Amino acid sequence: LAKLLHKDASEVIKKLMFLGVMATINQEIDMDTILLIVAEYGVEVEVKIPVVEDDFETIEETDDEANLKERPPVVTIMGHVDHGKTTLLDAIRKTNVSGGEAGGITQHIGAYQVEINNKKITFLDTPGHEAFTLMRARGAEVTDITIIVVAADDGIMPQTVEAINHAKAAGVPIIVAVNKIDKPEANSDKIKQEMTEYELVPEEWGGDTIFVEVSAKKRIGLENLFEMILLVAEVNDYKANPNKRARATVIEAELDKGKGPVARILVQHGTLKIGDAFVAGNCFGRVRAMVNDRGRRLKEAGPSTPVEITGLTEVPLAGDPFMAFEDERKARAIADRRAVKHRQSEMGANTRVTLDDLYNQIKEGEMKDLNVIIKADVQGSAEALKGSLSKIDVEGVRVKIIHKGVGAITESDVILASASNAIVIGFNVRPDPQAERTIDQEKVDVRMHQVIYKAIDEIEQAMKGMLDPVY
Ligand code: GDP
Repeated sequence: LAKLLHKDASEVIKKLMFLGVMATINQEIDMDTILLIVAEYGVEVEVKIPVVEDDFETIEETDDEANLKERPPVVTIMGHVDHGKTTLLDAIRKTNVSGGEAGGITQHIGAYQVEINNKKITFLDTPGHEAFTLMRARGAEVTDITIIVVAADDGIMPQTVEAINHAKAAGVPIIVAVNKIDKPEANSDKIKQEMTEYELVPEEWGGDTIFVEVSAKKRIGLENLFEMILLVAEVNDYKANPNKRARATVIEAELDKGKGPVARILVQHGTLKIGDAFVAGNCFGRVRAMVNDRGRRLKEAGPSTPVEITGLTEVPLAGDPFMAFEDERKARAIADRRAVKHRQSEMGANTRVTLDDLYNQIKEGEMKDLNVIIKADVQGSAEALKGSLSKIDVEGVRVKIIHKGVGAITESDVILASASNAIVIGFNVRPDPQAERTIDQEKVDVRMHQVIYKAIDEIEQAMKGMLDPVY
């Protein structure tokens, strides 16, 4: 790169250090970093990505029926707030007393498995249709069965309806869990009656929807619930070929202080092994370690198995597709190409960039603070971003964090940004579907990032650009 730029390698290395990249002279640097460096020199570049036959999302793989093996069903729990989703997930997790893995320390890896009568069931650990739909919005279809939890002492509430509609839109079978039946005021007939309005008619009334009465708190009816899940699984005959390269979906990902970028993924096809090269979203890597929900190290993970992996170069996004590749070079080429594509589509979409408008406002003395809303996947990242951004001071204009939080960018974030002339930074999070619409309407500048220094750099560059424009 230094040679192409007609610069000293040591100078380029120094620039890299300022960007937080500690590189040696013979180290490969990724496309993002290259673009940052050339931008510093004001050089125009044309990106030529080595031709790879196909992007992996479009690679169609067909399996011979003979190679397909039964796999555990993947279940998501949805329902109205306070109807008992979390309690039910916890109760189910504790049920797993069979097998030699009992007593293992449970790890939060985004999903977990229980074993009932030698059959496994995988539960996604993030309840609610927002997460479910967020995944779907990214093209990820991970759920086989949804359980809609309704409190028997309450009834069908707005989020129950949302959950039903989200599940239906995805074409995923629904099991209704009528919860809190331990309560004296519980009335499950009333729930069933109300559910018929949404075309969920219990079998005993001539319909085909399975209703299960449970108490998550008192752990009543869980066995029955498991039986029903396994029954639905049997009817739908969920299968996958375990004997090929792995395809998976990222459930969660974050930057871990000790381990670096970690991704919690659900393997859907094939078997993922230690040492496999892979692409996850726009990132690539090589599986260094795999841990299951019991904290046990695995050498390989087959279909429907949730695992936490390390060995990524960056932090992917929830819902990102994941695929193993024979060699790392190819994985890297595909990840690079995806990153460039992603950036191009972002640039196209952000034609009304408000970071640019800010320059005029600052020039006219209207802007003393650059208001920023931070949403991140974990508290630690939000804090780190806030700390670094608050330190930026370009000619008296400072960054003011007016709100920070953990979780997807919501409609209320966007409205707040619009009302406060703020920009929104999403760190490993994206806007939820309502927010997406509001962003268009309100013309709010929303920036998504996966690397902290890049988020900071962008703001700093923009502020400097605002004050010292290069025409
Ligand atoms: P979520 O918002 O749907 O995740 O609901 P939670 O699991 O947090 O439960 C909300 C409240 O309902 C908590 O106080 C639980 O203890 C309580 N709860 C959950 N399941 C039951 C149940 O089966 N019986 C009773 N009596 N209370 C329950």
